[in-house]
Amino acid sequence: MSLEEQHKINLNEIYKQVIMSHFARPRNKGLVNDPDMMVHLDNPTCGDTIDVQLKVKDGLVEAVHWAGRGCSISMASASMMSEAVKGKPVAEAKAMIDRFKAMMRGEPGPFKELGELQSLSGVAKYPVRIKCATLAWNAAAMGLDQAQLDGRS
Ligand code: ZN
Repeated sequence: MSLEEQHKINLNEIYKQVIMSHFARPRNKGLVNDPDMMVHLDNPTCGDTIDVQLKVKDGLVEAVHWAGRGCSISMASASMMSEAVKGKPVAEAKAMIDRFKAMMRGEPGPFKELGELQSLSGVAKYPVRIKCATLAWNAAAMGLDQAQLDGRS
């Protein structure tokens, strides 16, 4: 086996571990009673369903909560989204979501700034799963748009 092939396999293994870690121990999961924004989205092709809640104050995403049911990719991706968006200025969070979606559409990278989110890039090869991976991100983007309309940022 060539070094390059070995490297690829190791990388796939690391990526799989990142996704499984978020699936097994989802971050920011569980809804709160007082969100500023709440968006519900379904992905009927897979059966994934998600609620994303945001708290936005002074232009900053103070908190992200989510709940849902679905495949490991949709749930892991929701967990990763919550960590990526939390604590960011709204404009920066929106830019990151756009970058993530560009990666999932298979647009040319590099996407180094996405860090461990790159572990989901392999999903771009499977068109039916792209919706799984982007579901929570689309919900967050809609919530952030709402925050801007409400003049919260
Ligand atoms: Zn799914």
